[in-house]
Amino acid sequence: MRFSVLASGSNGNAVYIEYGETKILLDAGISGKQLQMRLQAACAREMSDLTAILVTHEHDDHVRGLTQVCKRSHASIYMTEGTYASLPDKAKLDDESRFHAIREEQSFTVGDIQVTPFAISHDAEQPVAFRFDTPDASLAVVTDLGYVSDRQKALLQNCDAYVFESNHDTDMLRVSRYPWHLKRRILGDKGHLSNVDAGYALIDILPESPVEVYLAHLSADNNLPDLAELTVEQIVIDARPRLAEVLKLKRTSRQEATALTEISRARV
Ligand SMILES: [Zn+2]
Ligand SMILES: [Zn+2]
Repeated sequence: MRFSVLASGSNGNAVYIEYGETKILLDAGISGKQLQMRLQAACAREMSDLTAILVTHEHDDHVRGLTQVCKRSHASIYMTEGTYASLPDKAKLDDESRFHAIREEQSFTVGDIQVTPFAISHDAEQPVAFRFDTPDASLAVVTDLGYVSDRQKALLQNCDAYVFESNHDTDMLRVSRYPWHLKRRILGDKGHLSNVDAGYALIDILPESPVEVYLAHLSADNNLPDLAELTVEQIVIDARPRLAEVLKLKRTSRQEATALTEISRARV
């Protein structure tokens, strides 16, 4: 399985995943033009190559380019009924026959990839995160959630790579210029994971084998990549020192895609 985080942050999210002939776009939160440029530059792919488009939830930073990418591909489109019903007008689908309703914890296959959506706590209508499994490797993409439940931790075991939310540093957020209602939203149970939240969740999730964690959905105002990395690393390694040898923390960016990376189950 290969994947690239095309964009990650509060102003746009998209991940490209491929295995064999199956090519999936997870969220389309940047403009169609940006999606196309990044797919070409990082993955040497076109929108018309896509097999499926999956949507986590209806927030603008996840659906901004949905209409354009739907127009320029013949991909099937997967999301929950709640997300579908709540899409903003500009992201509504022209062709309803391409829409496939998905349900929490009901796995389905897209070509050669098994996809499992699971419920997350976020201030959207029926939002989900996803896990992707092939015979060679497993990947989970988990962003936009207020906390990580024991159920979610169980569903996230034994992946080879994680794209995992590390949205804000709580102290930076508290003293920021954001209005109080927005701070409350972000810090609440239906908001976003802080660096510390991410670290503590990953203690219970990460396998003992080589694993890559892409810290994702970083706030432009209330976080710093170095701080996110340091916080998560310290919390995880303090609790599980053996992971120091196998855990690789990676960065994602608002401005550019991560290199298309192959993951496989090379157990040590
Ligand atoms: Zn988001
Ligand atoms: Zn959101």
